Amino acid sequence: MNTAAARALCTRCARPQRNCICALAARVDCAPEVLILQHPLEVHEAKGTARLLHLSLPRSRMEIGEQFDALQLQGWIEQDWHGDALAPAPHAVLLYPQAPHDPALPLAPAPPLPAQWLQDPAHLRLVVIDGTWRKSRKMLYLNPQLQQLPRLALRDLPASRYAIRRAHRPGQLSTLEATCCALAQLEPANHALERLLQAMDALVARQSQWQQAATGCMEP
Ligand SMILES: [Zn+2]
Repeated sequence: MNTAAARALCTRCARPQRNCICALAARVDCAPEVLILQHPLEVHEAKGTARLLHLSLPRSRMEIGEQFDALQLQGWIEQDWHGDALAPAPHAVLLYPQAPHDPALPLAPAPPLPAQWLQDPAHLRLVVIDGTWRKSRKMLYLNPQLQQLPRLALRDLPASRYAIRRAHRPGQLSTLEATCCALAQLEPANHALERLLQAMDALVARQSQWQQAATGCMEP
């Protein structure tokens, strides 16, 4: 592969072709739809997991931005993604913890999550924010529609398998892990979800190889 080809971006995963992660994606069918809102600073983050998540979930959509056009965001939250105007509006739920008050970025209290929504996962649309803790909070602050969504809090958090991002502290999960955990909560019998974690493990392994290769190149 010549240098220009090596630098060219893959049109699916937006990574340089030599680092393309498309082959790592594992198709995983699940009942809820997943809307991934990615902060622009995460787009070229080599260690990010949101793109792999999107590539693995046929019923997902990924949009990039910090402050979205309100009408456009409303459409992504409420409307059928295939243009079916007669489709019933999905039950949109935001994957976000009950965060402590922050006077710099105050949030409106989230409405309660109706228990009956959880009985019908096929009509749920899980909204996921992909960004650092601070950036996610800012996106929530800048997009009041997201504050108006009932929130799904994760319970029984597993230890993170995601070991390549130093900023990660115990109890913090990657976007893929947190979404997988939420989907497992919504659809406990869906054992295919384990494949999402396996895809992430493969990404982590590849990433370590690249890092080692890069370090090796710099050595005399
Ligand atoms: Zn790719």
